[in-house]
Amino acid sequence: MNFHDVLDSVLKRPVTREEALFLFQNTETEEKRNSLFAAARAVRKAETGDVYHFTGGIASVLPCRLRPLCNYCPYWRKKDQNPLPVEAIVAGARYFRREGVKKFHLSGGTTLGSEGQEVLEIVRSIYEAGLTDMKINVNCGAAMSVETMEQLKAWGVDSIGAVFEITNREVFRKVKPGDDFDKKMQFAWDIQKAGLAMGSGIMAGLGPKETRYEDYVNSLFDIAQFPHLASVYISKFTPDPAIPMHDWEACSVEEAARLVAIARLLYRSLNVTTAAGWTEQEQNQGIRAGAGNSLFALAVNLKVDYWQGTRQQASFSEDNIEYRDSRPAKRAMAEQCGITIAEG
Ligand code: SF4
Repeated sequence: MNFHDVLDSVLKRPVTREEALFLFQNTETEEKRNSLFAAARAVRKAETGDVYHFTGGIASVLPCRLRPLCNYCPYWRKKDQNPLPVEAIVAGARYFRREGVKKFHLSGGTTLGSEGQEVLEIVRSIYEAGLTDMKINVNCGAAMSVETMEQLKAWGVDSIGAVFEITNREVFRKVKPGDDFDKKMQFAWDIQKAGLAMGSGIMAGLGPKETRYEDYVNSLFDIAQFPHLASVYISKFTPDPAIPMHDWEACSVEEAARLVAIARLLYRSLNVTTAAGWTEQEQNQGIRAGAGNSLFALAVNLKVDYWQGTRQQASFSEDNIEYRDSRPAKRAMAEQCGITIAEG
């Protein structure tokens, strides 16, 4: 295979498995990496017009009841930790609406086998508060029945997350020992049965070095099989003293950005974004590598102390709840990167 021929081909059609592996193996130098990123940006521009939208997100809406917790995850490790009260979630949704941001996600932990009653209560409260024109993505593990998701759809929920992080079953079992791969797979198909769009995610730097590129390619293509797939986020492994994987090497931004770029070459017009573990500065590199077209800019969360140094300062806090607004930084980044943000 010739590097430049492959890049020419993937401008016109989705990358194949063999080409994706070839591109991971042949973009370790800065020069090749930059050529890869330029191709990914060209695909993004052709497919999406490079127009971006701000989104919001409310975290810790449900506790995680997986035992053990995932080995890379710093959430829910303190004994006295509670999820955000429903009133605070509704207040967060009001804040987004006030700021003109009508699309947001609710993220929380997993209760395997749950019917999803708690999610129903949260979404019902948001809509009963009159916030009926908001597009909501629910990302709370593989933990809802088809009936629950049908009800969410009837209320106007937009999409549901089924996030694998990695689809190598052996590595999945090791890094997510309390989770269940088959249930997640079933859940991903149940989202389609309920008639909803699906979001998923891959974590860069999570698997062993020896099979890392193969694992990226398999994860990308395994997730691509879902016809209702609408968005994929790429998070970036970041060690924290509280997690069992505290001495696992942090994923470099260059490697994570290459995963973003190759995801763009496969998923084309879908929403490919950066997620947890990317600093504000590193997110610019994600955009240069082809990420888009939503920009997570308004965040509501409980005060937490993990990932010190990578988290942006809170814009303001109320009752132990932090609000972050990164729109100014993102507008500056958009100008630098030559992309357009459609506000309102
Ligand atoms: S399911 Fe999510 S919240 Fe729960 S331990 Fe795993 S990554 Fe953390």
